[in-house]
Amino acid sequence: LLITQTMLEECKKYNVSNFQITLDGHRNRHNQVRFISKTKGSYDKIVENIKLCLKNDISVVVRINVSEETLSDLLHIITDFEDLTEIEREILNFLFHEVWQEEKELEVDISTIVDQYRKHGLATSYIDENSASIYNSCYADKINQATINYNGEVFKCTARDYTPENSDGILTEQGDILWNDKFHDRMYKTRFQNQPCLSCKILPLCNGGCSQHRLEHKNVPYCIYNFDENKKLNIIKEKFFTRMHHSDSL
Ligand code: SF4
Repeated sequence: LLITQTMLEECKKYNVSNFQITLDGHRNRHNQVRFISKTKGSYDKIVENIKLCLKNDISVVVRINVSEETLSDLLHIITDFEDLTEIEREILNFLFHEVWQEEKELEVDISTIVDQYRKHGLATSYIDENSASIYNSCYADKINQATINYNGEVFKCTARDYTPENSDGILTEQGDILWNDKFHDRMYKTRFQNQPCLSCKILPLCNGGCSQHRLEHKNVPYCIYNFDENKKLNIIKEKFFTRMHHSDSL
């Protein structure tokens, strides 16, 4: 929302080449959640700024949070990006993200919408919270990421409550992070421990889900795709259709 041409000039000096910008649905839905004032939503300004980034040759991942309420309107977003040039389209990618609170299966509806985006020349990929692939893994799965709460508690996953039981460590008075057992379980002990993954054909793509999922299913054999071979096949197909980034294209 706050991006300006001056800011982009400055970013380019420091080789910033990519932004991820979130939309919470089409105009009405987004503006209900994110507004500038009581009467002004932020949707149009954000769309304008996404285009400004593209004009400045900065690539943008537009993350669209998908929930049951946002679903019906998602096709309207396509119209707002119809005026893009071919070159601008090359560096824009829509990433549909099922928000983690949702328990409903939205996958089928989403894949129809994804198809429409692609038909209109907009690169689109779809992930749900658990299916972070190796390429697209969550920041919480990276060893040097830490979210530090106001009280010094340190967390990896930001999709769970910031409670002492969920914390991965603590920030000391000296400014060091003292990681706890949960951190070690997350980063090392639960890795490649889930038996079904070890004989799964898409393990190299899937990685058995994110570290939070691993932790929460520590001693129970699981599959983030419910052992459904068709869903796994879709992951492979998606890999072919998805243009995540220039260097990742197949
Ligand atoms: S078994 Fe399921 S979770 Fe494990 S790698 Fe295969 S698809 Fe992923």
